[in-house]
Amino acid sequence: MFNPSLSNEQNALRDLARRFTQNEIVPIAAEADRSGEYPWELVEKAHAIGLINVTVPEEYGGGGLGHFEDCLVVEEIAAGCAGICSSFVTSSLGLTPLNIAATPEQMERFMKPLCAEPALAAFCLTEPGAGSDAASIRTRARRDGDFYILNGTKRFITNAGVARLYTVAATLDPKLRHRGFVVLLVPADAAGISLGKEEDKMGQRAASTREVIFEDVRVPVESRLGREGAGFRLVMDTLDKLRAEVAAMAVGVARAAMEAAVKYAKEREQFGQPIASFQGIQFKLADMAIKIEASRLLVWRAAWMADQGLRNGYESAIAKCFAADSAMQIATDAVQIFGGYGYTKEYPVEKYMRDAKLLQIYEGTSEIQRLVISRWLLK
Ligand SMILES: Cc1cc2nc3c(=O)[nH]c(=O)nc-3n(C[C@H](O)[C@H](O)[C@H](O)COP(=O)(O)OP(=O)(O)OC[C@H]3O[C@@H](n4cnc5c(N)ncnc54)[C@H](O)[C@@H]3O)c2cc1C
Repeated sequence: MFNPSLSNEQNALRDLARRFTQNEIVPIAAEADRSGEYPWELVEKAHAIGLINVTVPEEYGGGGLGHFEDCLVVEEIAAGCAGICSSFVTSSLGLTPLNIAATPEQMERFMKPLCAEPALAAFCLTEPGAGSDAASIRTRARRDGDFYILNGTKRFITNAGVARLYTVAATLDPKLRHRGFVVLLVPADAAGISLGKEEDKMGQRAASTREVIFEDVRVPVESRLGREGAGFRLVMDTLDKLRAEVAAMAVGVARAAMEAAVKYAKEREQFGQPIASFQGIQFKLADMAIKIEASRLLVWRAAWMADQGLRNGYESAIAKCFAADSAMQIATDAVQIFGGYGYTKEYPVEKYMRDAKLLQIYEGTSEIQRLVISRWLLK
């Protein structure tokens, strides 16, 4: 039975993530956003105190915890900087297919060394011609004896260039669509991999986003996760599990925006009184709180279901869609409450608004979440 209350251990983990965010992330978030340079030292610090690889089993160097605990951490880190958080969550996205489908030998070979040191993974699905329609990927894995020869271009890959491991969705034959999928584990330093230029993004600028180009990359057959042709299911199961984390990011961004708006509304005076005394402002703040509380419960339910091994495609799509749309609305309203000052970089709310937008786009757009939800209703 889903019980939305936290144990002492979960509270302690959340406090740890909150302190880390306040001490290490908040002081550098604005500068990382401005420069677009990836703050690698945070990976080292987060790794040292167990705030990355949370869901990886302990025997392979991870936290041995569930998606629920991961979501507690993610909400806190995203409240400090969604870009930095995005990098950590994407690493989980790259590692979750191993948690689901890797053999013990693959866990020893790929997961253990990766988790032993400060290191990240990346998840390579999207291509220039294949976004929402993931089954239309064209990155080809051609079998050559005990190897696949990998050719193709992956677009918008978070952690490209900083990751040590690429988890790559490829196809044996594009005509087979979802039936032709394989998921391959490819070390980032494999011969034949090159990177496109850093994307100059609107928000979440601290995260690195680039193309990854595979040219005749030789990947041993034993680096394939699961069966040939079963890769699409693995990709979809991974996205279902990790959508709770993306939704938790949305809760973090929205909470930061609301807290900034509450503080400012109490300080800023117009017409001889704090703007917080106007009902028009109060109702905006109340709507923020309603959406945040509802989003968090949806996140917790979706994550709890993932940890119980229950299919959570419907619940995680609802959580991601509602939390991302809410975060965008809340960040926009926070800018409104700040008036002209909200439109400047003097205050963090314009960053929250830019950061929130991406949450409605990646890991399945809000439209695609609505497709998923309506399919469940109509089937
Ligand atoms: C900063 C950033 C980081 C990213 N990180 C990663 C990553 O690490 N790994 C990775 O694999 N991908 C990553 N992505 C890719 C991301 O997941 C895709 O951009 C997203 O899935 C949308 O694909 P698209 O951009 O091709 O848009 P399209 O699929 O072309 O969609 C364009 C518009 O059409 C709408 N649309 C499409 N199909 C339908 C439909 N059937 N019904 C209604 N509306 C529809 C969409 O909702 C959208 O509004 C990242 C993207 C960005 C911008």
